[in-house]
Amino acid sequence: MAQLDVRQKLEILADAAKYDASCASSGTAKRNSRDGKGLGSTEGMGICHAYAPDGRCISLLKILLTNSCIFDCHYCINRKSSNVRRARFTAKEVVNLTLSFYRRNYIEGLFLSSGIIGSSNYTMEQLVEVARSLREDHHFRGYIHLKTIPDADPELIHQAGLYADRMSINVELPTVGGLKRLAPEKDNGRIEGAMGGLKSSIIDTRDAKKRYKSAPTFAPAGQSTQMIVGADAATDGDIVTKAATLYNRFELRRVYYSAFSPIPDASAVLPLQRPPLMREHRLYQSDWLMRFYGFQPKEVLAAADDATGMLPLDIDPKLAWALKFRDTFPVDVNRAPKELLLRVPGLGTKAVANILTSRRWRKLRLDDVARLTVSIAKIRPFIVAEDWRPVALTDKAELKPLVAPKKQQLELFAA
Ligand code: SF4
Repeated sequence: MAQLDVRQKLEILADAAKYDASCASSGTAKRNSRDGKGLGSTEGMGICHAYAPDGRCISLLKILLTNSCIFDCHYCINRKSSNVRRARFTAKEVVNLTLSFYRRNYIEGLFLSSGIIGSSNYTMEQLVEVARSLREDHHFRGYIHLKTIPDADPELIHQAGLYADRMSINVELPTVGGLKRLAPEKDNGRIEGAMGGLKSSIIDTRDAKKRYKSAPTFAPAGQSTQMIVGADAATDGDIVTKAATLYNRFELRRVYYSAFSPIPDASAVLPLQRPPLMREHRLYQSDWLMRFYGFQPKEVLAAADDATGMLPLDIDPKLAWALKFRDTFPVDVNRAPKELLLRVPGLGTKAVANILTSRRWRKLRLDDVARLTVSIAKIRPFIVAEDWRPVALTDKAELKPLVAPKKQQLELFAA
């Protein structure tokens, strides 16, 4: 490997990390250094932004320790057979970079991942050393998200969790067959085994913390994972099913969906084109339905096309579900329980909370609901209000064009 200075390494290793979308910093413990001790805070907003290939903005120092790797996952630009420039940070360099970026207020924390060098254990030891040094040598109190190497010794993974806010292990692909084909050196059993180990450590330390204040914390922001969308033949149904299983079995905080980006010198087993970004968006919406709207996985699946197993791209999955199950509607905004209100297309969790509060004092009219929502046109066919009843609208055969978002003509010379 050619001798590179830190700036050149940063250029390569920040660029190499952009394909990982699983680095939102929500949900961790509140920590700060207002008492004059230590450095950093998990509460502030970072201003240094990493960009995923599709333009999403992430405010962490997001880097790889190295983009060298002994594995050869087909979808990965850093795979062994890829013809990219390689670089490698020492643990000390990552620590110094994080501290200097933090001091300049460029970032709110560190997202650190790595290719596998030498062995899984050796790589994990390096990741742990970065987190240990930040916390113990420099009293860094900012956010740390560590990507975990699933094959590493469980004891090393445990140590990492004692320093990191969030841990994540990528399941990579929604089906075992897809993983075997595109990442032959990875093993679904080992990945899920490591996730199970993280879950146990999180629960054990949470329980210990309830009993003893001095008990150590372990990954207080929980664990997350990422699935690549569109690199194999998995349907949205497969992806939703896998996500629901992961949430149930491992109490994940988040599943991230990352639309596959074609990479330079791509392997011949990969599709030539990326999936529509809207597909990724619809999967996030379906994820939201399961986590915040009380939808069961099989209900989300019911919104998908029966023949293809794919969610519609032109309308959101909640609207697709409502159009299929019209006998659930109309829902009376003045009487219906929260669970039913959450089924109404166009009513978000905030709007439902506002409806529940407002209706304690008076009967809600259509105008009142309109003030609480973005588009009353979308909602009208699905609700009853004090002065509104949709009559035959809910059963209308051509309801979809009335409630679907209007198609927009793209500008010919738009950037
Ligand atoms: S193990 Fe990780 S870094 Fe290495 S090729 Fe596979 S996805 Fe890429």
